[in-house]
Amino acid sequence: MPADLHVHTTFSDGTFSPAEIVKFAKKAGLNSIAITDHDVIDGIEEAVAEGKKLGVEVIPGIEFTTEIPDAEIHILGYYIDYKLPKLAQTLEKIQKDRVARIYKIIDKLGKIGIKLDPDKVFEIAGHGSAGRPHIARALISEEHVRNIREAFSKYLSHGGPAYVKHFRLTPEEAIKLILEAKGVPVFAHPAVSNCDEIIPDLVAAGLKGIEVFYSGHSKEKEKHYLGLAEKYNLLATGGTDFHGLANGREIELGDVAVPDELVAKLKAAKESG
Ligand code: AMP
Ligand code: ZN
Ligand code: FE
Ligand code: FE
Repeated sequence: MPADLHVHTTFSDGTFSPAEIVKFAKKAGLNSIAITDHDVIDGIEEAVAEGKKLGVEVIPGIEFTTEIPDAEIHILGYYIDYKLPKLAQTLEKIQKDRVARIYKIIDKLGKIGIKLDPDKVFEIAGHGSAGRPHIARALISEEHVRNIREAFSKYLSHGGPAYVKHFRLTPEEAIKLILEAKGVPVFAHPAVSNCDEIIPDLVAAGLKGIEVFYSGHSKEKEKHYLGLAEKYNLLATGGTDFHGLANGREIELGDVAVPDELVAKLKAAKESG
């Protein structure tokens, strides 16, 4: 049975709790799933506990949002030691900045005549790590836009009138931190970042995989990145990037899945350090 290696929960911007995700994974016939919330590890324990109950392997993971001057690069980490203090400290810094950033985004929206109550956004985010998708949902509920896509294209996208930068690690820093946490670093959805020229630098920093199979990758892109995985001797991973319902994407958990052998290879990559 296959594995879905890219899944978000309510602890970042997904709409299902970690326990719900594991139940869906079981129903979809998956053997393993990786919980890869954005810059947060708080959903892992709940998923692991549910996985033990249902017989689904939960791979503790994370998806770091990192930045280089011209692009955003997402770095996945698999089998991380999520109790490492240094990891927790870095994530806390990132989370604090995310809260401050919500106020800045709302400020910018206010300057162009769009009023939004920060409390409303934090209410939507719940225990989740607050971000643009929560702002987008608040904009919908206040009838400023019709859907998430419009919220991003009108206001929130990079370069948009309400765009605010995050405090971010560089991709190399994220890779280093994942390795310190004894995890396996993987370049997420490379076609989305569209800057292949950085791959040799990431490999030099310790990258071990590349997300070849992805809900947003065409067959052509898949072939292209499979070629690069071979060239650089990287594991070819895959996943849906499932965020749940009403998130502007039509995808079901497990729609993109990789074989169990790949999970075994990830584990082996972890053990080889
Ligand atoms: P943030 O971490 O606050 O910068 O928000 C990033 C998240 O917003 C991404 O992980 C996506 O889930 C979501 N996102 C980014 N661009 C779009 C878009 N054009 N439409 C819908 N969701 C998006
Ligand atoms: Zn997301
Ligand atoms: Fe991503
Ligand atoms: Fe993701």
